[in-house]
Amino acid sequence: MTTLKLFNSLTRELADFEPIHPGEARVYTCGPTVYNYQHIGNMRAYIFADTLGRALTHAGYKLTHVINITDVGHLTSDADAGDDKMEKAASAAGKSAWDIAKHYTQAYWADIKALNIREPAHWSIATDYVPKMIEFAKSIADQHCYELESGLYFDTSTVPDYGRLARATTDEGQNNHMGRIDPVPGKRQPADFAIWRKTPSGETRQMEWDSPWGRGAPGWHLECSVMSGALLGFPFDIHTGGIDHREIHHPCEIAQNQAHENSADTGARIWMHNNFLIAKNIEGRGGKMSKSTGEFLRLQVLIDRGFHPLAFRLLCLQAHYRSELDFSWENLAAALTRLKRLVGAVEKLRDQVTGDGANALAAAEPKFAETDSGKSLFEIADKQVVAGNTTFVPPEGYTPYLSKYQSFQGAVSDDLNMPVAVAITQGLLDMKGDSPDLKNGIIEKMDSVLGLNLLTLTRKDLRIRPKDATITEADIEARLEERKAARAAKDFATSDALRDDLIANGVEVMDGDPLGWDWKLEI
Ligand code: AMP
Ligand code: ZN
Repeated sequence: MTTLKLFNSLTRELADFEPIHPGEARVYTCGPTVYNYQHIGNMRAYIFADTLGRALTHAGYKLTHVINITDVGHLTSDADAGDDKMEKAASAAGKSAWDIAKHYTQAYWADIKALNIREPAHWSIATDYVPKMIEFAKSIADQHCYELESGLYFDTSTVPDYGRLARATTDEGQNNHMGRIDPVPGKRQPADFAIWRKTPSGETRQMEWDSPWGRGAPGWHLECSVMSGALLGFPFDIHTGGIDHREIHHPCEIAQNQAHENSADTGARIWMHNNFLIAKNIEGRGGKMSKSTGEFLRLQVLIDRGFHPLAFRLLCLQAHYRSELDFSWENLAAALTRLKRLVGAVEKLRDQVTGDGANALAAAEPKFAETDSGKSLFEIADKQVVAGNTTFVPPEGYTPYLSKYQSFQGAVSDDLNMPVAVAITQGLLDMKGDSPDLKNGIIEKMDSVLGLNLLTLTRKDLRIRPKDATITEADIEARLEERKAARAAKDFATSDALRDDLIANGVEVMDGDPLGWDWKLEI
């Protein structure tokens, strides 16, 4: 089993992943609030969580992944003021909150699938867990909570070190943390938060339940504590979310977990956070992407402009998850070209393959691991080959491919250094050598972590096809055939006219494109 080094937001340090249950990895990911479509920034969070899951599987762990669907309880601010996002969206659309939740959950699942994000073991739907949430709240109410007119509040002074995750006691942490907390009259500490929100008297909510603290709905933070504990058991291994959750949502979850477990333990051993996708200069918008402004980029917008969703996945992999990622159409186009290059190389490789890649890898790997006074023969050979020693005769069966695979694993294990992992994959594909089956077997393994579908995608799949294009692919192909014939007959007037006509229809003719893309539609 390969050791993974992961960055824990709790300690702000890298540490070796040590599973709580030997051989297993249990991961909880904060999922979407389904009051609207998820934007591509949100998608970055799920691509990160999926990459983590894939890396854990590749390293040999049995993965249990949970992603929740928040269909109640998330207010229009991260704290306790404002309306419930679901109820607000429902009344704006003139639909029921349940219909809204269903619609956006389906849309989210479609995006997840298009991005080749693996299905988690459980999609936990918040409204399915309300009775468990009430039980959880009951178990901590006496010692850790107090009631106000608006609901049951958690007293953050009753748990050790509240806000440690957010560094809430440092100046910088205070700004991030306290600046986002809404004042509610009667709260004992500004950071205290609602775990049950009573329906105001005289009002009815579409989503409400009876509880010992009156009819109402659970607080958003309570949901994740309850669902993660119920499905993974406290303590579990890793909790993920976007970096905004490091400031309020996750510190609140931690406080509840500590109260419930009567321990200083935070519920999850490792807390991991992806940084933001920033969309600047996009249709006049700047700064961090947020759904709440009502105007946002969703995956379908990228697809409508002709981009394959996996080009967006590659764009995300090209940045380390802890760095901000600037989105631009140019960056997306560059990622698409890179993906095309990778797919093209795998297509070529596939033509040379004669046997089963996995078998070839299984046969070659032990030789790499064989030890000869502490080092494998292949490892020694590798050093000589890399150093360019031309007089060195490598042992039978040696190929440098395996050392690329080892570097790949090293990059993935280094806190998911996917930008390097992608470059190594490209490097392996560019390598000359005579073991195509082995190369194929390694690419298969690498792609199990990258999730780019390299073995099944074709360059044709990646062709830019904007939704509003009026010309069909068949038309383009037919006209290009005519043009080819005209050129062969040295009828350049016809050939130029055909080209101009294609340009007028938004088609760029790419004669002699090194990647074999004969045409693309302008976007
Ligand atoms: P929400 O539906 O708002 O609860 O967000 C779903 C997930 O997306 C959470 O993990 C957020 O932290 C994350 N997220 C929100 N905005 C961004 C962004 N611009 N870039 C990356 N992740 C984000
Ligand atoms: Zn959550």
